[in-house]
Amino acid sequence: MAHLNLILLGPPGSGKGTQGERLQEDLELPYYATGDILRAAVREGTAIGLEAKEYMDRGDLVPDEVIIGVIAERIASPEAAHGFILDGFPRTLPQAEALEEKLDEISLQIGAVILIDVPDEEIVRRLGGRRVCTEADHVYHVDFNPPEKEGICDIDGSELVTRDDDAPETIRNRLVQYHEKTAPLVDFYEKQALLDRVDGARAPDEVAESIRALVATLSLEEDN
Ligand code: ADP
Ligand code: ADP
Repeated sequence: MAHLNLILLGPPGSGKGTQGERLQEDLELPYYATGDILRAAVREGTAIGLEAKEYMDRGDLVPDEVIIGVIAERIASPEAAHGFILDGFPRTLPQAEALEEKLDEISLQIGAVILIDVPDEEIVRRLGGRRVCTEADHVYHVDFNPPEKEGICDIDGSELVTRDDDAPETIRNRLVQYHEKTAPLVDFYEKQALLDRVDGARAPDEVAESIRALVATLSLEEDN
């Protein structure tokens, strides 16, 4: 497999986690989702978790310096030597610049930034019905992707819950944060000819198919 460093970009609820899980299985690359990493840190009560929790509960972004260290360590680790998938990072321009610097340092490059495009009104529907498992953050939706047995994770049998930050008020704030702080990255990566847009408002299988096709072209380019 070619060396492929991918970034999944998109508003909260656009399907980054849903698509990231599939992509990770297809490509067998390590998958670093900063939201999952931070929620695990909160559950474990680490210093980072304690610092991040209040921001996450409000739907604000955690400070750049907290999250940059977390990711820098992972992309430089041996398991990422053949590539990696980032979900939810970078989310601000300073994070994108820090990522560039870190990758330069270890002589790596971004292969592509995949923007999963979904309009705000669809985001509200998706996040309002999202349920996640308490064991491993496996993702469901009450209408669009229900579990076989109500309230129970198909994969590990743990209980399904609504994330604290999927409350309506907090969803609104997360969308504001996205448009203010994260959306400028679209332009940033477009200027570097790294951005690929995928229409994320379709069914999960269709979105996955577009992403697969895109990654196949990238792998071919890498091989040539
Ligand atoms: P979603 O998948 O709905 O977009 P995530 O699970 O990725 O949400 O993130 C949940 C929360 O974790 C964010 O609202 C934010 O508080 C924090 N977070 C995750 N990634 C970052 C990041 N790169 N920078 C700052 N905060 C982050
Ligand atoms: P993100 O990681 O970007 O926040 P998720 O993958 O957690 O997004 O998806 C948010 C919610 O929307 C989940 O409840 C998920 O089951 C649902 N979902 C994901 N992709 C789609 C899709 N293409 N159509 C309808 N619902 C979807």
